[in-house]
Amino acid sequence: MRSEKDFKKLNILDEKEKLLRMKSKEVVFPLTDEDKELIERGIQELTYSQIEKYEKKYDLRPGMGLAFPQLGLLKRIIIIVHEVEDGKFDNYIVVNPKIVSYSSEMIAAEEGEGCLSVNRDVEGHVKRYARVTVEGYDIDGNKIRVRAREELSACFQHEIDHLDGILFYDRIDPNHKFYTDQEIRLI
Ligand code: ZN
Repeated sequence: MRSEKDFKKLNILDEKEKLLRMKSKEVVFPLTDEDKELIERGIQELTYSQIEKYEKKYDLRPGMGLAFPQLGLLKRIIIIVHEVEDGKFDNYIVVNPKIVSYSSEMIAAEEGEGCLSVNRDVEGHVKRYARVTVEGYDIDGNKIRVRAREELSACFQHEIDHLDGILFYDRIDPNHKFYTDQEIRLI
């Protein structure tokens, strides 16, 4: 990861920006230097945001995923930093990601979802597939496939939605904001 002296907070667009409602374009390889730099910064910022010391020091909002449109670029690239155990993180960078299969079982985060572009609390459960398989490309253009479950699965779906201009609260049913554990498995 980049060294701390190179840390510079990203400029993340707010939900009121129209660009967040637009569809992003497929990326043609090779990635530009700007893309690569933003990916590095994204990994660093998402990681720092999940480590209390840095979260406080740089006044970050905790987050595990980012999509390029949130950085003002309509490119189909997502970045996920997933804490697998205390202080240990797995990074996923997927270019042109596509969900190629998903479970019939659905889940929802009991506390609801959040988004680095949504600076307010939004109440309600967001229905997500419990498991997904995502295909796409790594930063060098090699084909990759990721299987994700639970929280990580929901995160992939949240980030891929950004590439189609969809925000998580679009998926909250206004007539049925909350589910019981009998209706859907809450995680
Ligand atoms: Zn988001």
